[in-house]
Amino acid sequence: MKNKIVLFSIPNYNVVYMPLAVPYLTGYLRSQGLDVIQKDLNILAYDFILSKKYLYRCLKKAKLQNNKKYQQIVENIEKAKEAMRDPEVYKNFDEFSKKKKILEKSFEIICKISKEALRIYGNTFKYEPREYYKKGRRISYKSREGLLESVRNKKDSIFYDFFKEQVIPFLKKEKPVLIGISVFSQTQLVVAFILSSLIKQSQINTKIVLGGNVITRISDILSRDDYLNRKLFSYIDFIIHHEGEIPTSELAKRLSTKNPEFDKIPKLIYKKKGKIIENLEFNITAISQIRTPDFNGFNINLHWTPSPIIGYLTRRGCPHYCAFCDTPFGYDGYYSLIERKTGKRFKIIKKSPAARVLPIDRVVKEIKYLKNRYKSKYFSFVDEELIASFLKIFCKKLIEEKVDIRWECFARMETEFKNKDFCKLIGKAGCMFLQFGLESVSQKVLDYENKLTKVSDYSLILKNTYESGIMNQAFFLVGTPSDNLFEAIKILTFLEEYGKYIYTIRPIIYETSKWSPNAFSAELKGLTIDKNTPDLDIHFDMWKERPKYGMSLQQARIFVKVLELWIRYRHKVNPVTRTYIYGQRLFIGPKLIREFSKIAKPKKIPKPAEKNVLEQFTRIFKKELKKIILISEERFISENIKKEYHNFESLAETEKTELVKKNTYLYNLENKRRLFFDKVYKLIKYRRSLTLDEILDFSRKLQKIDNSISY
Ligand code: SF4
Repeated sequence: MKNKIVLFSIPNYNVVYMPLAVPYLTGYLRSQGLDVIQKDLNILAYDFILSKKYLYRCLKKAKLQNNKKYQQIVENIEKAKEAMRDPEVYKNFDEFSKKKKILEKSFEIICKISKEALRIYGNTFKYEPREYYKKGRRISYKSREGLLESVRNKKDSIFYDFFKEQVIPFLKKEKPVLIGISVFSQTQLVVAFILSSLIKQSQINTKIVLGGNVITRISDILSRDDYLNRKLFSYIDFIIHHEGEIPTSELAKRLSTKNPEFDKIPKLIYKKKGKIIENLEFNITAISQIRTPDFNGFNINLHWTPSPIIGYLTRRGCPHYCAFCDTPFGYDGYYSLIERKTGKRFKIIKKSPAARVLPIDRVVKEIKYLKNRYKSKYFSFVDEELIASFLKIFCKKLIEEKVDIRWECFARMETEFKNKDFCKLIGKAGCMFLQFGLESVSQKVLDYENKLTKVSDYSLILKNTYESGIMNQAFFLVGTPSDNLFEAIKILTFLEEYGKYIYTIRPIIYETSKWSPNAFSAELKGLTIDKNTPDLDIHFDMWKERPKYGMSLQQARIFVKVLELWIRYRHKVNPVTRTYIYGQRLFIGPKLIREFSKIAKPKKIPKPAEKNVLEQFTRIFKKELKKIILISEERFISENIKKEYHNFESLAETEKTELVKKNTYLYNLENKRRLFFDKVYKLIKYRRSLTLDEILDFSRKLQKIDNSISY
């Protein structure tokens, strides 16, 4: 009999989509003749904890078994879950909302007995692992110390009972030689260690390997031979960073031999004779080695959708280099960033381009296969973006070959979308949900972030996609290094004008991702490093606390709350799109969303919370106005030059004079702005709080002034 491999996707992830990393790996391992059992523990865990039996157990523990309100929730939980899979309920907004509310409330019950938090927030599933304190010092779950604390206190985990009662007995029965756990979010890292420690404690004779996107991002830390890693490696046996097909297959094969050795397995880190060893061999997975994702073994009908949504990747990597983004880093082609950061040198097995693309014919063929195999026409392309040139050919092929699918993807605001026929083609090919990263409505900010998109294209792209029956989503990234309150505030004017052409608006607070181009040039970009950032954090949240230029993290947080107020009260479709969790919208479509938005009312924000946001905003707003009014010509010139020309001192005298001249001109040009700011400041100087309408009015006037200044 062949040795078994068990692969797990773990909580926390949302319950609408099927995880994709494990099915890709399974597809490859099975093609190598390996015996793989894969389980989506996330969906199974949700089914376990959101059951009548478990919820009553929670109520009893919390001594709330006689609470009528909670009893009613528990009694209706199974029906609420069923409703999420019933296409008829999707067509009835009130009914769907009621059922979703029951599910939201049931999380409250679970949290009553836990030190962790789990909830549905709008259409996001939020899980917050426990943080620990030692002598007043916070120990984050994003640190190695925090992971060890979580393992020590594993009974506090929301998922502990599920692992103990369902997963451990399953493993004892299957006796796999290797268990692979996929970690693609920061919170999953904690869950992975809790599960691994439980497996070790249960004395199941098996090896455990962790892999996935987050493991890749922290492999620079986990490869160090130090005390904390040696401790962590008592709960796991291996980690594999970057794309895992070849190394996992090789590892499984070696484990089937007597006295296996693990040298030369690419991308592998492990403990040997008490020391942490890293193999520096590195393979770049070739397109021909990538298999069709294989979902066999997943409980695909447990998700909260009427049919499973099948995930698919058409490429590995991204052809762009936006300065704020580290998304492509998880793929094989970006290993040199690790070399740059750590000084180590990988032994590359075979060079390949950073972004590797599947031929369109193969994509179409596999889509057809997956559609038939899993009896679902719903697809999610999880690529960082489907580029316009790909979309054009791909959509034509889908139409020509009559591949009837409904799908969603990410895209860039490429000029091709300004062509209405192009948008109609995509809509006709079944695209229902397109997510765009607009990031900012300031061209200066976009250029500084190397986004390569034009603000002047945005309105038409949104209108065209909207009118082609595509539910579009706009992401705004607030607080990138060159962003400031007066650039960000213009988003409000943009939304007032074009919000009617957007289905979902998502403002996000900028954090400096550890592997983004911005992180590599942090000093130049005026970002300051907080030494207290937890060692496994894949972001450096605190880097912008005292920025040299632009807005602070605190300002970005407050402004995003103002944007959320706008979205809540002025974006007509928001109450509907907030209710249906992302992929669920594929099952209602744009027509019903618009219809429902006529009856759906926004959920009110509690008055004190709203007041607090507006007061906080007014405080930072006044402060920033004052800064600009008072800025001297000399300071303006020197700051502008420092920000854009890091090598100013080394320039020739003539160039220096030119730059000073250019910035003096800019200072004078902005006089109009300063006069306006001065007027506003005098008017609101003693005001404690502005209204949302007043903020909007300021945004409109500023946009008008800036439009009249030709830079
Ligand atoms: S933001 Fe999108 S287009 Fe830019 S690098 Fe990241 S994934 Fe690529």
